[in-house]
Amino acid sequence: MGKIETGLRKIKSLFGKRTLQSVEDLMVYSYDATKKTGVPDMIVYPEDEKEVAELTKIASEYEIPLIPRGAGSGFAGGSVPSDKGGVILSTEGMRRIKDIDERNMIAIVEPGIITGDFHKTVEKINLFYPPDPASLEFSTIGGNVSTNAGGLRAVKYGVTRDYVLSLKVVLADGSVIRTRAMTIKDVAGYDITGLFVGAEGTLGFVSEITVKLLPKPERKGTVLAFFHSSIDAINAGIEVIRNGVLPATMEFMDRTAIALVLATSSLEVPPGTLSALLLEDDGFEETVLRSLKIMRDVCLKNGAIEAEGTIEKEKADEMWKIRRSISPALAKIAPFRLNQDVVVLRTKIPELLKKAEFIANSKGLKIVQFGHMGDGNIHVNFLYKDNEEEKR
Ligand SMILES: Cc1cc2nc3c(=O)[nH]c(=O)nc-3n(C[C@H](O)[C@H](O)[C@H](O)COP(=O)(O)OP(=O)(O)OC[C@H]3O[C@@H](n4cnc5c(N)ncnc54)[C@H](O)[C@@H]3O)c2cc1C
Repeated sequence: MGKIETGLRKIKSLFGKRTLQSVEDLMVYSYDATKKTGVPDMIVYPEDEKEVAELTKIASEYEIPLIPRGAGSGFAGGSVPSDKGGVILSTEGMRRIKDIDERNMIAIVEPGIITGDFHKTVEKINLFYPPDPASLEFSTIGGNVSTNAGGLRAVKYGVTRDYVLSLKVVLADGSVIRTRAMTIKDVAGYDITGLFVGAEGTLGFVSEITVKLLPKPERKGTVLAFFHSSIDAINAGIEVIRNGVLPATMEFMDRTAIALVLATSSLEVPPGTLSALLLEDDGFEETVLRSLKIMRDVCLKNGAIEAEGTIEKEKADEMWKIRRSISPALAKIAPFRLNQDVVVLRTKIPELLKKAEFIANSKGLKIVQFGHMGDGNIHVNFLYKDNEEEKR
């Protein structure tokens, strides 16, 4: 029996029914949100840090690759085995919230908790965990930490890294380290925590995460503005910030994104619309009302055809429909697409849009561009219908 086979047997005898090896199960864990595939030799579901450490020691002794995996929704192939196979270390058995310290506003969680579930739990006690990747209904906090996930609210609140106070990490030899203190301020020495955030599981397995929480904002205010051009919309967004409002969300849609939504839904936009901005701010009601007025006025001053604002949830939900319809519309008309998450300075967005359009036109491909204008992060989607078009 080979070395790896012996190691796998040892793991199986330790974890018993919490291992899977059928062909069907291995296939389910052989891909993530990329098109990459790689079949593991086994899937293991440890239930605590001690078990992860034991598993890691065996894997190290028998030279078996270990691949940490949350929900497998990553866009970098990090949870997909290489052609060497290996053992998927699933965090599905580690979903506990260990502690929420309301007065110090910190929480200690295991890596497998679903981000959206954690949001709901802390919001029930008027606390707030801002990182909100669009995958929050299924992705895990361990995955978010290991990819340093951002989201719609990143423009005002930052990304996952900004909320991680301390980590416990199981290293490749099975030893466990704690990084940093749980205090808000801990400035001495190297930033070891920062090294593990965004490391895609390459440096160790994150077994416990201490995050910072904020007070839950009282109200939200939403503005939807339509423009004759992308340049007008982007200038308006830049001017909103220059006029003192840093919105929680600043979403941009180009003419192709709007055309796509109109073609696949019953939503309507004012005549002449070739671009749109969706802005949202949060905080105390008085502050939000003031932000709404500034956001609306600045959009109109910068060429908006129409700009409406509301603090009513139902009206805001209506406004969000146009933005939320883009991804389903894309899936409907273009099942195949190359989606690049491009990040540039806000002032460079018009140049990015133009260059991406030029590339698409020169290759005879359709393109749809939209995204988080506030942090300069635009989703550039090249659409294709077959292998021939993909090669271009
Ligand atoms: C529809 C959709 C929308 C998305 N929207 C966003 C978005 O708005 N913003 C964004 O940033 N991303 C987004 N993503 C990408 C993805 O959801 C995020 O990267 C997310 O953080 C991955 O979490 P996961 O639990 O799925 O992790 P996985 O995909 O399982 O793992 C991701 C990486 O983390 C490692 N890992 C997982 N758990 C651990 C652990 N405990 N210790 C060490 N390493 C670990 C894995 O090995 C892998 O390298 C989106 C994906 C989809 C499919």
